Amino acid sequence: MIRSKTTAVYHHPWFLQFKIGAKSHPCDEALSTLYGDLLNTDIASRFIYPEFSMATDDILLLNHTHDHLDWVKEATVIFYDEDQDSSIASVEKIARLAVGATIDAIEKVMSGQVDRAFLLTRPGGHHAEAESAMGYCYFNNVAIAARYAQQQFGVKRILIVDWDVHHGNGTQKSFYDTDQVLYFSTHEYPLYPATGFYTEIGQDAGLGYNINLPLTTAQGDSAFVGIYQQLLSNIARQYKPELIIVSAGFDIHQDDQLGHMKASSACFGALTHIMLELAEQLCDGKILFCMEGGYSRKGVYEGVHAMLDVLSGQRSNKPDLVSDNLGKLIPEWHNAIKLFGKYWQLNGGS
Ligand SMILES: [Zn+2]
Repeated sequence: MIRSKTTAVYHHPWFLQFKIGAKSHPCDEALSTLYGDLLNTDIASRFIYPEFSMATDDILLLNHTHDHLDWVKEATVIFYDEDQDSSIASVEKIARLAVGATIDAIEKVMSGQVDRAFLLTRPGGHHAEAESAMGYCYFNNVAIAARYAQQQFGVKRILIVDWDVHHGNGTQKSFYDTDQVLYFSTHEYPLYPATGFYTEIGQDAGLGYNINLPLTTAQGDSAFVGIYQQLLSNIARQYKPELIIVSAGFDIHQDDQLGHMKASSACFGALTHIMLELAEQLCDGKILFCMEGGYSRKGVYEGVHAMLDVLSGQRSNKPDLVSDNLGKLIPEWHNAIKLFGKYWQLNGGS
């Protein structure tokens, strides 16, 4: 059972102004309804809601180049309808605010002011590379947060877990040659951005610290729970992170319009439960959940609620132990486990 802890939830009206593409999208509406739920229902009292501000250049430069910052300033209105009031917030300002929220969460979690954080921010960040924006991502929130935790709090081992349906090419690239960050990703493959095969295992000091499990066929709850319960948990216990950051994408949901996975809404609660247990066991509960993609109303709305329920202890969502059928479910499983087994003690590779 996850013990009751203080969870900070980050939201801001500016994030509702970030649109996926030029027109409103069903997932935009989902976030807006979620924000309403947080303010108006009994959910409100279960969490705390810190105030935060836009990240400064110095913070963004922890993971990005000056040229990239300049480009984002220029790019500011390209995704906006003409009738939208861009004076309220530009893409650059919204993206800066998302980073600012993530940095505030790192500050509060690392200093013990809150136990953990859930960032309902936009835009996502995991595709953004040091020198380029990609896939609706401008600044890599998670990568900047990890670098900030290293710089300000001397954290030596950070586990970044990415269950978005797309591979987090930007996050992988930021930490490909270091053992101070372990990046673990499950994602549909092939799919945008076409990176993340299991053979991309890291380089130099980072060899073995970049773990990709490409999903080449549609997978549902039992595969996701099995992978995180068996493979991720096993590697994480050996790595012993001091902080865990989750790139929580909602596009593995069965209703998603861009992904082809079959996760149910409850799956997000189950994955959250697994991650919270690991954080409790390994790093005094220090964990951030950061919103990445999600392109169906139902997936985003119900997925976030499932996570909120587990984070607030309303529902345990403790998943059943999944039997050892992952080798049958996932075509690349045996080859991937064989390669990962060179770097990590893995039992069997069922
Ligand atoms: Zn995605």
